[in-house]
Amino acid sequence: MSDTAVPPLIETIPLAADAIRGASSLVLACHVNPDGDALGSMLGLALALAPLGQSLTLLSQDGVPDIYKFLPGADRVRQTTEVESFDLAVVLDSGDLSRVGSRVRPLIARARRVIDIDHHALAGAFGDIRVLHALAASTSEIVYVLLEALGLPITPDVATCLFTGVITDTGSFRFQNVTPSTFLIAAALLNAGAPPAAISENVFENRTFAATKLLGHALCSLSQTPDGRVVWAHITAQDFAALGAADEDTEGVVNYVRGVRGADVGLLFREMADGKIRISLRSRESVNVAEVAQRFGGGGHKMAAGCTLAAPLPEAEHLVVQAVRAALPSNAPSHPGLLAPSAGEGGEPRRAG
Ligand code: 5GP
Ligand code: MN
Repeated sequence: MSDTAVPPLIETIPLAADAIRGASSLVLACHVNPDGDALGSMLGLALALAPLGQSLTLLSQDGVPDIYKFLPGADRVRQTTEVESFDLAVVLDSGDLSRVGSRVRPLIARARRVIDIDHHALAGAFGDIRVLHALAASTSEIVYVLLEALGLPITPDVATCLFTGVITDTGSFRFQNVTPSTFLIAAALLNAGAPPAAISENVFENRTFAATKLLGHALCSLSQTPDGRVVWAHITAQDFAALGAADEDTEGVVNYVRGVRGADVGLLFREMADGKIRISLRSRESVNVAEVAQRFGGGGHKMAAGCTLAAPLPEAEHLVVQAVRAALPSNAPSHPGLLAPSAGEGGEPRRAG
């Protein structure tokens, strides 16, 4: 499978592999509000390292959301630790070091060396060894390539974790970030024993009653700009409280918002218990939503980003919608990925625009 390795990784992967092999105590950490890739990449790496017999501490400041508790090893994830020092910290999927959270960050600082493994833009890169590839669809794919370099077996449990990361960050191979490597690595993970249907069932067909009602509330609030190019929805603190739901129950809701025909950008605003507004931004090709999110102190990827605003909900909606409108290119097709109807019987579909 060496042809699956994404070239810029080749330089730092051997360094990372040596550092990992040479360490006897490691701390692994991922970002706050962890998603399937954050947890899948961290747990996949941790389970694969078992034969090396090292002391491993797994940290996620916000714990493990219910839908990811099926992941092998999820019960080993801690929100903090009493361990005093580490030879090595490995931080996964985090964009920049602050994203591990204010309580985990000082624990990472106790490590003698730090490895950053990520597929976010390089701007936030950190650590002594940087295993980065912004074109990898998921951090889990990068971990797969690292494990190959380490020569460690991909057990069915490891494969399950990494496959979960791949399908959650690619929307089950539907998003723009998918590459041939994504499919090659996914195939290798299936060969190694990952059960794709069971994983998808756990992640995508397992919404609680409250989370499903919450989706309904969000969709009832749907708004759009007059040209339909920006579509947004919100969930109020009252919605959360009435349903006994939490922010993790909003996973995937924003994809319905972006999925509206004619929308370039879909936004989901959530009013948190502390009054702050958490925003998920999803784009098709035409707007770099990471740049918009950065202006509000957040970040992410070109097509999927997030930020938090300390403002009342209507004001947050106004500010972010205006910023997205200002970022819309005036002459681009509103749905560049859409295929035009085929020319006729037997005709080839054409790309719009
Ligand atoms: P989500 O909308 O699912 O919370 O986040 C989408 C993506 O945006 C995440 O994968 C993450 O990379 C990024 N992201 C979300 N919130 C923040 C934030 O507050 N700061 C930064 N730097 N990135 C974020
Ligand atoms: Mn990721």
